[in-house]
Amino acid sequence: MELKSNVPSGPIDQQWTRHKFEMKLVNPANKRKYTVIVVGSGLAGASAAATMAELGYQVKCYCYQDTPRRAHSIAAQGGINAAKNYQNDGDSVFRLFYDTVKGGDFRSRESNVHRLAEVSVNIIDQCVAQGVPFAREYGGMLSNRSFGGAQVSRTFYARGQTGQQLLLGAYQALERQIGLGAVKMFTRHEMQDLIVIDGRARGIVTRDMITGKIESHIADAVVLATGGYASVFCLSTNAKGCNTTAIWRAYKKGAAFGNPCYTQIHPTCIPVTGEHQSKLTLMSESLRNDGRIWVPMKKGDTRSPAQIPEDERDYYLERKYPSYGNLAPRDISSRAAKAVCDEGRGVGSTGLGVYLDFADAIQRLGEAKIRERYGNLFDMYERITGENPYQIPMRIYPAAHYTMGGLWVDYNLMSTIPGLFVLGEANFSDHGANRLGASALMQGLADGYFILPYTIGNYFASNKFEKLSDTHAACKSGESSTAVRVQKFLAINGQRTVDSFHRELGHIMWEFCGMGRNEKGLQTALQKLPALREEFWKNVRVLGEGEEINQSLEKAGRVADFLELGELMCLDALERRESCGGHFREEFQTADGEALRDDQKFTHVAAWEFAGDAKKPVRHVEPLAFENVHLQTRSYK
Ligand SMILES: Cc1cc2nc3c(=O)[nH]c(=O)nc-3n(C[C@H](O)[C@H](O)[C@H](O)COP(=O)(O)OP(=O)(O)OC[C@H]3O[C@@H](n4cnc5c(N)ncnc54)[C@H](O)[C@@H]3O)c2cc1C
Repeated sequence: MELKSNVPSGPIDQQWTRHKFEMKLVNPANKRKYTVIVVGSGLAGASAAATMAELGYQVKCYCYQDTPRRAHSIAAQGGINAAKNYQNDGDSVFRLFYDTVKGGDFRSRESNVHRLAEVSVNIIDQCVAQGVPFAREYGGMLSNRSFGGAQVSRTFYARGQTGQQLLLGAYQALERQIGLGAVKMFTRHEMQDLIVIDGRARGIVTRDMITGKIESHIADAVVLATGGYASVFCLSTNAKGCNTTAIWRAYKKGAAFGNPCYTQIHPTCIPVTGEHQSKLTLMSESLRNDGRIWVPMKKGDTRSPAQIPEDERDYYLERKYPSYGNLAPRDISSRAAKAVCDEGRGVGSTGLGVYLDFADAIQRLGEAKIRERYGNLFDMYERITGENPYQIPMRIYPAAHYTMGGLWVDYNLMSTIPGLFVLGEANFSDHGANRLGASALMQGLADGYFILPYTIGNYFASNKFEKLSDTHAACKSGESSTAVRVQKFLAINGQRTVDSFHRELGHIMWEFCGMGRNEKGLQTALQKLPALREEFWKNVRVLGEGEEINQSLEKAGRVADFLELGELMCLDALERRESCGGHFREEFQTADGEALRDDQKFTHVAAWEFAGDAKKPVRHVEPLAFENVHLQTRSYK
């Protein structure tokens, strides 16, 4: 397998402009001759499908929810970055690029990140034109707030529901094209397999989740925008339905998987309360603009927060990272929370929690202002915990949230399978070993509105496509293997629920491949996972039939894939013998507990090639060069 990044030559700030000019175009009248499949209708998929249809391509779009409006992008709360410099506080395209490369701990591809920063400004204009109601200042200007890892205010937001408002914008654009007949929308259809013909991605196999019908869909190119896989941890901030199925099946068909172990653990989530939970709730990072994080100075201090005087509190982020304070990046803030809890200074009944306190901000700005900024987040917290955060500090703890890893793509967002493009959280592209807050929405929309529509045209104009039909042998084989798999799940008739396997998998991943990883733990996980997988295939109980709505069957398919992916994540974490960003190998840390990279050996992307079910996957590397932001030890002190 060859990993060709296809990064254009020349100065970094001119690469994308030149590349756009040098790429071949498809003449407007010819665009309708090409059909594109887009799997996923979240921010990345909906923006791509709508834009390509607007350009004149024929688009077929798929999602597993009953409407594109329920894609998980809707959950995004805090905001979206863009280098508009509306605050006149020193922001620029280069600064956003610099912050993102540094934030990713020097493990991302410089050219992609620069392009992302360039395109960020267009995204805001596009969304404003669509009517997305971003927060505004009294005078009508768009308002900004700060997110972690930045010393400027560049985050655009719509209260605590930015993802929802952005998705409504993309959804309207998509619906318009559905109305015009340019996009054919397939809701409640789950992609089960990728169809590869003559070495190129030419279609997908889906299961209709209402009738159980399994069928093939053919196109000239396939785009996967199927989101992240943090649900491998079972308890995460992701929706229960988030999965790895589409990208995992593509991996098994030859698409390299980039940096699978790079997971983001978000520092501000409502702590776990017990085994009954099916997911965790994020408290947006935007809250760290006004909330102060602290724990008691003394171990085992069980006094209520109000009884703990100021000089007996440890505002540990402000103490350890004075220049960024409560807005230190997520990986650093998460580890700092874990460290104080490991010392026995955590709060709440489990001891796995820290305070996020708004008392100072309320005193300074008034409760009404805080309500205006974060009202829905405070309401959500109160509904879940029964505590009023205007009066009692919130309790928060880190939780699995986002996956920087995903299918490897080149500069054109094409995977190692020609004709298979991957967008949004599903690809590995821009965030290196740690994503900065408010940059996932930016990346998904950059990919869908502004990058893919150009690069896919170049692919079409550079290749010839023979007409295919869904009776092709590759389609029939994909359909029959999908049907066999469904039957296999239903026939096992074992003793354990799918959820119980998912929970056990989550425990293994959190303990051994979570916030802290080490050689011994990862080896343990690599022994436990195959055993759990074997038990799953012998002892899972999937009730109901295949020809009806069957959530147990849907979950079984996803958990089966997670059980395989978990092993690849542990293998990747084991082989990366350094600490970087969200990947903290306990053996590699500085004297004061910070991540210790090994630039000599690991300044590269690890991309894994599937070698067969019983075989160890092959690790390939794409070397990374840092010519514009020079390698340095990341410091937020
Ligand atoms: C609670 C929360 C808050 C967040 N807040 C922010 C924030 O403030 N700022 C920020 O930048 N980022 C935030 N993020 C991250 C960001 O929301 C996501 O990374 C981003 O929205 C992902 O978009 P996407 O289009 O790639 O995927 P998604 O929105 O997850 O869409 C995936 C799509 O793929 C479809 N799909 C998946 N699998 C299949 C399959 N097998 N077959 C068919 N269809 C399939 C789904 O139906 C869906 O349409 C947050 C994330 C969470 C969980």
